[in-house]
Amino acid sequence: MPPGLRLLIPEQKIQARVRELGDRITRDYPEGPIYLIGILKGACIFLADLARAIERPVRIDFIGISSYGTGKTSSGEVKLTKDLDCSIEGADVLVVEDIVDSGVTLNYLVQVLAQRRPRSLKVVALLDKPSRRICPVDLAYVGFEIPDAFVVGYGLDYAENYRNLRDVCVLEEAD
Ligand code: 5GP
Repeated sequence: MPPGLRLLIPEQKIQARVRELGDRITRDYPEGPIYLIGILKGACIFLADLARAIERPVRIDFIGISSYGTGKTSSGEVKLTKDLDCSIEGADVLVVEDIVDSGVTLNYLVQVLAQRRPRSLKVVALLDKPSRRICPVDLAYVGFEIPDAFVVGYGLDYAENYRNLRDVCVLEEAD
């Protein structure tokens, strides 16, 4: 474990929960294909594991959206940095997010995607910090509710570091 980090959710718990989410999604979408839309960059590792836990045909696309810059606090400004490659009109879309904090990012993204007239639009988030919510967001599937702490690992970064940690850890160092 790198210095300054405290283990919050070990790899085995994450993997078990991802399998459970995959099973539920498999049951909830009897036909497929499911359009998994990962939010860059944090969701890429969760999406890779989740996609393989879903026993239905899936399509994978990514959207780039940023509200955080490179620090630990939100800039409050949401911007689209990369759009989808494909149309989602008439598709069953499942947005895959790493963590929901204020809800500002997802609230914006869901509005943008809804305008493209998918057949259904749901969100799966690995981590949820409900105590931080400012904007309402409807999360169909949540991996873990966590307290108000800044976490890294399993795709989540601090200034682009730690994304490849297998566990989710709390970053304890001061700003
Ligand atoms: P929101 O718009 O819900 O406030 O923030 C969502 C985004 O902020 C997430 O996709 C993630 O990129 C970033 N974020 C929020 N909380 C954390 C955290 O604890 N750790 C990291 N690494 N990123 C976070």
